[in-house]
Amino acid sequence: MTGTPDRGWLCIAGLGPGDDRLVTPEVTETLAQATDIVGYIPYVARIAPREGLTLHPSDNRVELDRARAALEMAAAGRRVVVVSSGDPGVFAMASAVFEALEGREDWQALDIRVLPGITAMLAAAAAAGAPLGHDFCCINLSDNLKPWQVIETRLRHAARADFAMAFYNPRSASRPEGFTKALAVLREECGPDRLITFARAVSTPDQRLQTVTLGETTPEMADMRTVVIVGNSATRRVGRFVYSPRSAR
Ligand code: SAH
Repeated sequence: MTGTPDRGWLCIAGLGPGDDRLVTPEVTETLAQATDIVGYIPYVARIAPREGLTLHPSDNRVELDRARAALEMAAAGRRVVVVSSGDPGVFAMASAVFEALEGREDWQALDIRVLPGITAMLAAAAAAGAPLGHDFCCINLSDNLKPWQVIETRLRHAARADFAMAFYNPRSASRPEGFTKALAVLREECGPDRLITFARAVSTPDQRLQTVTLGETTPEMADMRTVVIVGNSATRRVGRFVYSPRSAR
């Protein structure tokens, strides 16, 4: 139980990659106690309506407004869950809520908790085998909130450090050229034989997994429902799986 019945609270919860069985029991319990659900339209659509529950779906790119609205409701005594897909701390709403808390001591005193979820990268890695079995990093390829130059620098450093890499938001209709540029950087740093896995709509009926080499890759293999995993220099295939050995040379 979170808080006392007459006191509002705010939970920022991860719904996992898509399959209801990958929602944690903690998140399910908390959703059952909520009076209000706040989030991006497709994520709120995953919550079953019931009496006493108000759904507040909103469009993308309004994260800070959404966070403030959720905090207002919790301050007014509502039991509010802000939902994200995957994990709420991975390129998602938890940071937006904490950003909204800055300079607001009244809101900082509220009962606020972050409930983890299974992030897309981990569900994708599990479906493929164990491509993240050694050191890895995770980069958001969207340039909505950072300049391309920052993305390119991080890509190059990660590749030179021989990390396996997971990429979120690889390619959208509004910025198709970013992923093409990212692939050029990766080919330059890792060579054409490096394995790359495209994991689309993992854990949903639309799931599609494809592993190729960087040399065989075309940008169209990724879209916004895809998480992309590039192996390190030792990542290899075994049977139908891809894995990274536990030790580095
Ligand atoms: N908080 C989310 C990530 C939000 S960013 C999480 O932890 O998973 C949105 C990006 O996540 C998408 O562009 C895609 O790269 C990835 N993603 C989310 N769900 C996915 C799924 N089921 N399969 C593959 N990628 C997914």
